[in-house]
Amino acid sequence: MPSYDEARRVILEHVQVLRPETVPLLDAVGRVLASDVVMPCDMPRWDNSSMDGYAVRSVDCTGPVTLRVTGFLPAGGLPTTPVGAGGAIKIMTGAPMPVGADAIVPVEETVEEDGAVRLAKAVEAGAHVRLRGEDLRAGEAALLEGTEVGPSEVSLLASAARLTVPVVGRARVAILSTGDELVEPGAPIGPGQVYDSNMLSIAAAVVQAGGQPIVLGIARDDRSALRALLERGLEADALVTSAGVSVGDRDLVRTILDELSVRQIFWKVDIKPGRPMAFAMRGATPVFSLPGNPVATLLTFEQFVRPALLRMMGHRQVFRPLRRAVLQTALRRSSGRVGFARVRLTRRADGALLAATSGDQATGILKSMLRADGIAVIPPGQGSLEPGQTVQVQVIRPGHEQDEA
Ligand code: AMP
Ligand code: MG
Repeated sequence: MPSYDEARRVILEHVQVLRPETVPLLDAVGRVLASDVVMPCDMPRWDNSSMDGYAVRSVDCTGPVTLRVTGFLPAGGLPTTPVGAGGAIKIMTGAPMPVGADAIVPVEETVEEDGAVRLAKAVEAGAHVRLRGEDLRAGEAALLEGTEVGPSEVSLLASAARLTVPVVGRARVAILSTGDELVEPGAPIGPGQVYDSNMLSIAAAVVQAGGQPIVLGIARDDRSALRALLERGLEADALVTSAGVSVGDRDLVRTILDELSVRQIFWKVDIKPGRPMAFAMRGATPVFSLPGNPVATLLTFEQFVRPALLRMMGHRQVFRPLRRAVLQTALRRSSGRVGFARVRLTRRADGALLAATSGDQATGILKSMLRADGIAVIPPGQGSLEPGQTVQVQVIRPGHEQDEA
């Protein structure tokens, strides 16, 4: 049985980055560039004014001076006449610099009267001029492979008229629920039955990770039903099942996967909750068999599946940021395995992070998952923790920590 850290490492060693595809800019948001983006042109494309004002020759303006206004240049206009000695052209932000001028005097620092403009003080060469290529140069690799596309990247790509961009593929993740007791949410439900919540909770987690869920449905604890659906799931980029992976009489998932030539890499991880999880591969397709208990399903997805999907989609940072936090409440523990405790986070005035239990930590309790901003990772062998002790916390809802009242 691998340790928690080994299991996470082994999974990342097995998964492969998906093939790139070229997509429109807005479809690239949140995805990872599959190659560098080289600037096709200088940015800005030409010297231009960074202010509304007057384009002048700095040699004419070594002190207070009055200049003749010989023209007007709006943004989008093209200079037709140069700025001659003793002259100035009124210019708007973004308009190209006229020949002869080497500085801009902001309108706020001038008085215009009868076709002349008065400047109160000397002007330095280059003042308020944006130089061609000062931001980015033609031929420069402005965005690097592995960069996650966000609004800034889209801004650059749009300004260079790159309307499509190569990004790493989105993982298509097949999801299968297993169990005779399960009923599709909305269908009539009888005694002893439960609605299949894992299908949609896993799908939600896949969406949040940037993947595309493929809902396979519910497989009965029956060989042929399981086999048919697992076979379909293996056509996706990744397959995630829930339940039927323990040692119960009807826990058939691993048996059928084995029959389908899926190679088991490990079964059971030294963690609590979530121990009976299994990881397997067929070709390049990873198969995650998660425990069925809805909280354990979400926790094991978070620990093992999410990093794998992020890596497949080209992300470099695949683990949640880990923060040290000071416990405000005790965390009771009885097991020798790595433990996950659901915690709420608060930010103290001095910036320190405080963690408190988000409620009953029993695996059957979803409420404490709903209230959690983070998962405290408690090392193996560590007994119960007392208030004041420090824990490492994975921040699962970044930015949700409250300021201490
Ligand atoms: P198992 O892993 O099959 O032993 O299931 C563990 C527990 O999780 C049982 O109480 C199941 O009823 C429950 N469970 C399994 N699958 C789901 C599911 N898809 N949605 C909600 N609960 C489930
Ligand atoms: Mg079951």
